[in-house]
Amino acid sequence: MAVAKYQQRCAQCKKNMVQMFSRKQYPICLQCQMKRLDQEIENPEYKKMFDIPKEFYAQSYFLRNIKEACIRFGSLSEKQVEAFKRTVEEMKNPKPKVEESVPLEPTVVSEKEAESVNKPVKRKKGPIRTKRAEV
Ligand SMILES: [Zn+2]
Repeated sequence: MAVAKYQQRCAQCKKNMVQMFSRKQYPICLQCQMKRLDQEIENPEYKKMFDIPKEFYAQSYFLRNIKEACIRFGSLSEKQVEAFKRTVEEMKNPKPKVEESVPLEPTVVSEKEAESVNKPVKRKKGPIRTKRAEV
């Protein structure tokens, strides 16, 4: 879980304090970031995609980052688009918390077998961290 390490004054308005999670994080408060995001996106496809309630951006650091990346770079990778849409869908239809279904008879894999089964997982490269891929 991410815990704010320290606080820093917003680099934009120099007024609000920003919860800093890492040194790489740009110190910008929610209000200023929202203002920055309030820009026209020219690409019609992206424009439609970003046409979601403002609360969603206010709630999700991830959505804000994607939009900001789009404003800054003018384009997004397919993965970013996908992750964005999925996040929006999840916010529109929050799933009721369901207990993970536990198999009645847990399959026991001996260590030897496990070794041969557990092939190294391909690492996905990308600047944006998405949720862990479902296995
Ligand atoms: Zn600010």
